[in-house]
Amino acid sequence: MGARTADYLVIGAGIVGLTVAAEIKRRRPAASVLILEKEDKPGRHSSGRNSGVLHSGIYYPPASLKAKVCGAGAKEMAAYCEARGLPLKKLGKILVPAAAVDVPQLDLLLERGRVNDVDVVRLSADELKRMEPEAGSANGEALFVRSTSVVSSSDVLASVVSDVRGAGIEILCGGQVGRVDPERRILHWGGDSIAYGHAINTAGLHADAVAHLFGSGERYTLLPFKGIYWKLDPSSGIAVNHLIYPVPDLRVPFLGVHTTTAIDGTVYVGPTAVPAFGRENYRGLSGVTPSELVRIGSHLARQYLSGRDGFRRLAWQEGRRYFKPWFAEAARAILPRLRPEHLLPSTKVGIRAQMLDKETGSLVTDFLVEKGRSSTHVLNAISPAFTSAFPLARHICDDWVPV
Ligand SMILES: Cc1cc2nc3c(=O)[nH]c(=O)nc-3n(C[C@H](O)[C@H](O)[C@H](O)COP(=O)(O)OP(=O)(O)OC[C@H]3O[C@@H](n4cnc5c(N)ncnc54)[C@H](O)[C@@H]3O)c2cc1C
Repeated sequence: MGARTADYLVIGAGIVGLTVAAEIKRRRPAASVLILEKEDKPGRHSSGRNSGVLHSGIYYPPASLKAKVCGAGAKEMAAYCEARGLPLKKLGKILVPAAAVDVPQLDLLLERGRVNDVDVVRLSADELKRMEPEAGSANGEALFVRSTSVVSSSDVLASVVSDVRGAGIEILCGGQVGRVDPERRILHWGGDSIAYGHAINTAGLHADAVAHLFGSGERYTLLPFKGIYWKLDPSSGIAVNHLIYPVPDLRVPFLGVHTTTAIDGTVYVGPTAVPAFGRENYRGLSGVTPSELVRIGSHLARQYLSGRDGFRRLAWQEGRRYFKPWFAEAARAILPRLRPEHLLPSTKVGIRAQMLDKETGSLVTDFLVEKGRSSTHVLNAISPAFTSAFPLARHICDDWVPV
């Protein structure tokens, strides 16, 4: 058995782990920082499978950590892409109330946007018709968020990986975290034991399980929600000029089926937020284990029975979206002319690392960071953690990691 040491040990090489590692090294250049990644390379999960939208921060309650880091993160990520010559499309986002009940949310979002310093304006029915003729709206009106952009998340990730390696940080890929002895600060990794000064858990879809190895985060458990995308057939005759989003149900941390125009011009419709049967259950029954199935199933059943936070409506709506006709119905809320045959299959699929708070029985909506013994646990790094990555990493280093 080999023995290694690291002043700072980061578990998980997604955008959060990479930016936290880079920030630690920037603050403590002489410290050794080691990243552990279970896959053969970084970015196999959420950071390489998302919509690539740099969100403006309009949705989040002003006191939340998301509100604090999202808007600043979008500006910083856009500047990073421009500085590195990475593709960036400044498309702007149109937010439409898909049903009459969503109309009052326009005022709430406009106010949140104002408080969160987002460049947002209300569009009259005429303005909406002119800017986005295909978009549907329950009262004809919409909000327009000018600053929303799209990037290629895989290009961003590759660039950040190269920055991290260039700063002298090693990324060890293709291992498994085994036993952790938080008292002696030793973590087992395949055949190695690693003595660490401080560990940072940024394990995304496994962040709760890794936290539990350190005796932390016992209150939280992960409920995976799958994001399935379809492609809009270019021959459908439906032209999309901006990103079109429905006004979301702000009680749940999902944004609703929307359009995203990728860097290559492909218009994706999605993602869903359908319950997945495993943390990495991207297709069919892959990534499904009986014990995880029972854990997820029992938590979902409890949530459904409690009916908390609009969960019953969410489960009913989203569960059906596994099937194309129901998915198309959801998409028609923002694109009324869309028919199922306008949707082409897509291999793009991601799973959200959504935490459930077992004490309150609620889905956690904000980012969550918890202190453990000589360790920091980043839980619930759901959307918009990609957008927010740089300021989020600084926040984690300011408040949660001894650097
Ligand atoms: C469908 C979808 C669409 C999204 N769209 C957007 C968007 O448009 N804009 C936006 O800002 N955000 C978006 N997000 C959210 C965003 O992708 C995530 O918030 C972000 O990528 C989280 O990064 P992460 O580093 O925490 O997780 P990840 O990228 O999942 O990285 C965690 C890493 O930890 C590794 N790991 C796990 N367990 C272990 C272990 N035991 N040992 C070692 N390594 C381990 C994993 O292999 C993985 O590489 C979206 C997410 C999804 C699912």
